Amino acid sequence: MLGEPEIQELRNALRGNVMGPSDQGYEEARQLYNGMIDKRPALIGRCADVADVVSAVNFGREHGLLIAIRGGGHNGGGLGSCDCGLVIDLSQMKGVRVDPEARTVRVGPGCTQGDVDHAAHAFGLAVPAGIVSSTGVAGLTLGGGTGYLTRKYGLTIDNLIEADVVLADGSFVIASEESNPDLFWALRGGGGNFGVVTSFLFRAHPVHMVYAGPIFWDIAHAREIMRWYRGFLSTAPEELCCFLGLKTVPSTAPFPREIWGQRICALISCYNGSEEEGVAAMLPLREALPPRLLDGMATMPFPALQGLFDPLFPPGLQWYWKGDFVKDLPDEAIDAHLEQAAKTPSELSLVHLYPIDGAVHRVAADATAWSPRDATWSMVIAGIDPDPGKAPDLKRWARQYWEAVHPFNLEGGYVNFMMQDEEASRVQATYGANYERLARVKSRYDPENLFRVNQNIPPAAS
Ligand SMILES: Cc1cc2nc3c(=O)[nH]c(=O)nc-3n(C[C@H](O)[C@H](O)[C@H](O)COP(=O)(O)OP(=O)(O)OC[C@H]3O[C@@H](n4cnc5c(N)ncnc54)[C@H](O)[C@@H]3O)c2cc1C
Repeated sequence: MLGEPEIQELRNALRGNVMGPSDQGYEEARQLYNGMIDKRPALIGRCADVADVVSAVNFGREHGLLIAIRGGGHNGGGLGSCDCGLVIDLSQMKGVRVDPEARTVRVGPGCTQGDVDHAAHAFGLAVPAGIVSSTGVAGLTLGGGTGYLTRKYGLTIDNLIEADVVLADGSFVIASEESNPDLFWALRGGGGNFGVVTSFLFRAHPVHMVYAGPIFWDIAHAREIMRWYRGFLSTAPEELCCFLGLKTVPSTAPFPREIWGQRICALISCYNGSEEEGVAAMLPLREALPPRLLDGMATMPFPALQGLFDPLFPPGLQWYWKGDFVKDLPDEAIDAHLEQAAKTPSELSLVHLYPIDGAVHRVAADATAWSPRDATWSMVIAGIDPDPGKAPDLKRWARQYWEAVHPFNLEGGYVNFMMQDEEASRVQATYGANYERLARVKSRYDPENLFRVNQNIPPAAS
């Protein structure tokens, strides 16, 4: 139990705020994006800089505290926080520096996707990452990072050049291909297991205006669309990303009122190039598929696309996630999807299949910690609703849906689409042949498992 003198010691050491349960701002500071998670840390250390992070890690370790690392606070399972321990909150460490000559972007660990998109867009660049602008770049990157640019440019980790890391013993290292390459290997997919990343250096790519948006079909056409889509993806240019969703039209603007609440199969697409090329890339789709309920494809700035979902998903909703990697979509799997999707517990609940082919497949499975390089999609089943009373229904639906489709999928799932209740064997299956090496790297950099509020990889016994 910490006394006031010890807490004062941390307050003196940090330039940023230190908050305990009786401090002003604590209630707000402990909130996570997922309203289903309610954690009460003993202390929240809002770090202002790397020196603060070093002090916070040392303080937590010396006082035997459970430590959680918070980037954007978006993790579904609430792994950016903990009960009774110390949250090392990086949300104020937000700088983004773009080098347009070198086409690199240096990103602070408190940045959201929107911070990075905004800064890079001014230079006609983007870092391949996620699809919702409020997501934290730190947690997203360390888990892998998939989005609209993945097919052409790879995962976010495939574009990571270097990371600054504060280790469990309070020391500071740079991880790159040249410096601490084993740590660099592990950071690229191994989550927050290895230390606190205080800066990321990414490769950026030319992305400015994109031809993008949603197309909806009535759910009656979903079987036909899914069968067509599974074949189309491998023939489509990598500049085009289409992810598939089974969902409901939200009962809100800008959707036309007459389709509010209607069950749909959706393709949400982004073509990184001119509208003319984008229209050509999507021609097979328009020729082959039935009449559309809504066609929202248009030319727009890339950050506008990245913000499309933001109004639908404000912080504080109830979320329950299950994920899997998917290689093939046989007819039986499609049937199972349609049966389960029909039992949706709420208007916002959804299943998405995000493409992870193309450039992702050109990286060897053992080149980074992220091993499922042969998967075609990363699937997420997300039960979502504003009403906390709906939480049991959201959980039940997502779990039953997952049980029904998992037999058709690969063993593991994306660590960033897991709650805190996954079995250790699932995490192990996700890393496959890379797991043992990860456990060895963990034992080198964090032998006492100080950083264990994550999809944990316990250190290998020495
Ligand atoms: C609405 C929404 C949309 C999403 N869309 C996508 C998407 O398009 N693509 C995708 O790949 N994922 C997506 N995700 C999943 C997302 O990648 C994870 O939720 C991720 O954990 C978010 O990172 P964060 O920094 O916000 O999380 P936090 O909750 O802050 O942290 C999550 C985990 O990362 C670790 N961590 C965070 N920062 C650091 C750091 N600096 N150093 C070491 N460890 C750290 C923590 O230990 C914790 O275990 C989405 C999530 C949501 C809620």
